[in-house]
Amino acid sequence: MRPGHFDLDTAERPLVLIWELTQACALACDHCRADARPHRDPDELSTAEGKRLLEDAAEFGDGQLVVLSGGDPLVRDDVEELIGYGDELGLRMTITPSGTTSLTAERVQALADAGLKRMAVSLDGASPETHDAFRGEDGSFEETIRAVEDARNAGVPVQVNTTVCRETVGELPAIRELLREIGAVMWSVFFLVPVGRGRVLEPIDPDEADAVMAWLDEVSDAEPFGVKTTEAPHYRRVSMQRRTNGDDGGDNDGVRRRTGITAGDGFAFVSHTGEVYPSGFLPQSAGNVRETPVHELYRESSLFRALRDRDRLEGKCGACPYRHVCGGSRSRAFAHTGDPLASDPLCPYVPDGYDGPLPWDGSSGSTFEAEADLENA
Ligand code: SF4
Repeated sequence: MRPGHFDLDTAERPLVLIWELTQACALACDHCRADARPHRDPDELSTAEGKRLLEDAAEFGDGQLVVLSGGDPLVRDDVEELIGYGDELGLRMTITPSGTTSLTAERVQALADAGLKRMAVSLDGASPETHDAFRGEDGSFEETIRAVEDARNAGVPVQVNTTVCRETVGELPAIRELLREIGAVMWSVFFLVPVGRGRVLEPIDPDEADAVMAWLDEVSDAEPFGVKTTEAPHYRRVSMQRRTNGDDGGDNDGVRRRTGITAGDGFAFVSHTGEVYPSGFLPQSAGNVRETPVHELYRESSLFRALRDRDRLEGKCGACPYRHVCGGSRSRAFAHTGDPLASDPLCPYVPDGYDGPLPWDGSSGSTFEAEADLENA
């Protein structure tokens, strides 16, 4: 097993397999990765094709995590059937609905009865004003909080997903309080990758990203809920540096590893038409599940194998002693350069002795201020 991935061999199976059931959604959020649209694509995987995909996913091994996403997955009326089928196959079936009116208490109970193991909702602000403004939909905050209550009543654990960008970073301390109040089990913090409609949002700068990650590390120690990052594996580098006082040991043992995975290495994404991507933010396809089983594409395709080979990384990520526990966001590298093996421009770390090109134009100092919040933790 390669280092830095707990007890999971990510060359054999992903920690997270996402299936985008549909791109149809009633919302039109400013930052949508999927460029969601009101109507379903006639070329979506059918129920029968979806079941075959779940059978193939079960080949990864018992308890494989499957996230049903969208668009709004609840636009489809076979979601309960698919959850039930996946559950019978031994998969851990979870869902990320859009927080629209389709998420009624009855629907949440039906999902729970089918075997749903977790529901993830998006909160990008801690109040109706901030959340609704970010998503561009009045009433979205209240609907989301109601859905959380419905999930708790149905016995389904809730995860909160938050997008970190210039527009939301100031809300993080308040969202943290909200997670505690609503009894969420996990905070998944997504560091913006500028693709899809997300291109209209402004990313935070690299130094600020490091400050946010150090703060999240403190939050994870202090709170009952877990914290994980998406498209920000340098969270693990930040955590290790904090715990070793900046010692650049990289892969040194005895340091608590952080949950964090990168595109194609612990993570895979199946589109609504069956294309298999390393992540939903890295639009290079390894093949289609209509022709090749997903486990074969994940384990054998040259694209996924290249992304898992940390010695093929370029620039400062390739020279970095943390590349085996971090590796940088391959999706962000691709979005910036067209090369998924290039350096991640959101990371400010420069390895000792590295004098090659840097992937950013320059960064300002951190403006993320959560010290007062940390003192109250
Ligand atoms: S330089 Fe690359 S591999 Fe090293 S910590 Fe930063 S993102 Fe990770």
